[in-house]
Amino acid sequence: MTQTASVETTPMIIGGQPTLSSTGRTYEVRNPANGQVVGAVPQATVEDANRAVEAAQAAFRGWAETSPDDRAELLFKGIALLKANEKEIVRLLSQEQGKPVFEAKGEVHHLIHGLTFYAGLSSKIRGAEVPLPPAMGKYSYGVLFRRPVGVAVGITPWNFPLTLMGTKVGPALIAGCPIIIKPAQTTPLATLRVVELLNEAGLPPGVLQCVTGSGSELGEPLITHPAVRRVALTGSSNTGRRVMELAGRDFKRVTLELGGSDPMIVCPDANLKAAINGAMVGRFWNAGQQCLAVKRLYVFEEVYEEFLSGLIDKVSRYELGDPSTPAEKPKVRMGPMHAEFQRREIEEQLADAVAKGAKVVLGGKRPEGLDQGFYFQPTIVTDVPEDSRLVTEEVFGPVLPVFRVKTLDEAIQKANNSPWGLGSSIWTNNMIWANKAVREIEAGVTWINMIHYGYDELPFGGVKASGLGREHGPEAVDYYLEDKGAVFGGLEG
Ligand code: NAD
Repeated sequence: MTQTASVETTPMIIGGQPTLSSTGRTYEVRNPANGQVVGAVPQATVEDANRAVEAAQAAFRGWAETSPDDRAELLFKGIALLKANEKEIVRLLSQEQGKPVFEAKGEVHHLIHGLTFYAGLSSKIRGAEVPLPPAMGKYSYGVLFRRPVGVAVGITPWNFPLTLMGTKVGPALIAGCPIIIKPAQTTPLATLRVVELLNEAGLPPGVLQCVTGSGSELGEPLITHPAVRRVALTGSSNTGRRVMELAGRDFKRVTLELGGSDPMIVCPDANLKAAINGAMVGRFWNAGQQCLAVKRLYVFEEVYEEFLSGLIDKVSRYELGDPSTPAEKPKVRMGPMHAEFQRREIEEQLADAVAKGAKVVLGGKRPEGLDQGFYFQPTIVTDVPEDSRLVTEEVFGPVLPVFRVKTLDEAIQKANNSPWGLGSSIWTNNMIWANKAVREIEAGVTWINMIHYGYDELPFGGVKASGLGREHGPEAVDYYLEDKGAVFGGLEG
């Protein structure tokens, strides 16, 4: 770390080396729980973007030709370093993001699990032999080669900075692509430390880099640099539109993991205790700031009252507080929202619903006595009109609208009445209903009797405004590979 006037600056990693920005500019990172400065990082610009892409380009051939076993070994060494430094990474993540320590631990475990999954997959990537009809009277056959696409850029959001970095770094590295990570401006610290540790394991310089700065000043020059062939974004749908437009100009390979408004359907025969837990964790984990959060809850009228009172009872016992003081407040269950503008947006969306006739049955306010951070009470709302902003927009915070439905057709029709299609769930023991939901809900995933969760083993992504392509699972690696055909002829001897 280098010392600046008030706080130490954590350098970026370019070409395997710690480095400051070419302008020398830095910016502070603050804890959303209490406003305290927890670090500073370089404010990178186009020159730094160019330096990183040049280093990645220089590393490309060597990395593409490194054997799969050697790539895996380096990743496994890096994973061991992450495990050895877990406490520090958890602390950085909790401080810069605002999530409670136990949630930050969960995220670091998820990162490690995901990287381990991909390290193990490294030697299993393969092409195919393809029998071909005889051409020009000669015996011939085709071979499908799988070649790394080239230099990749991974752009991550602030809600899960580490797991969403892992879903890019793992597949890119085992496919043979160098990758440059650009974290969200407000959450660079844990990412920088992870990238530093993975480099310490011995990755060749330029294979894994991290640059810090804004979307417009740094993200756009990275995307548009001619040597970058692959862009992976996780972010909002509006950012996705812009990134796709920029990358599309030069036909770059893009995946977009964007916003969502996941519906959850609770049927009359559901295990209500499990469903209540699923709704609670699904909506209020990470203070409601999850792409795959339960954002619209449709409950059959037969069980509506029982479900709602059970849910209110459980959520009302949530302990809201500053996660950065775990010793004094070990029970803190929910931290602050990440940013003031996010909280204001939630308040405006809620006010819009209330003005249209919705009833707040739990929470609905900023809590008293927590004025230093961006706290908002876990909130449950009923009687929400379909045209209110809580339904038509992504609700990225701890506010849950609950709707009463009469039939499965009505629930599915309302579930699909959304610009988004990321996750969805149905809670029932009726397999015919579960099957109908899987087939008819427009979403990348439908969980059945299961909390909304992104498994490393299963491809995850969205339809409609929720994005393009998939991360997670072996399928994620395909997006970092080019299929190249070769035809061998003249083999009669
Ligand atoms: P955001 O779109 O504001 O920012 C995401 C990243 O994109 C940041 O690193 C940002 O600096 C960068 N960026 C912004 N404008 C850019 C531009 N013009 N060019 C290049 N990069 C640019 O999103 P956010 O507020 O950080 O994250 C919340 C959003 O992410 C929500 O909509 C959420 O649903 C979504 N999300 C989706 C998934 C998923 O897997 N589908 C997962 C997590 C979050």
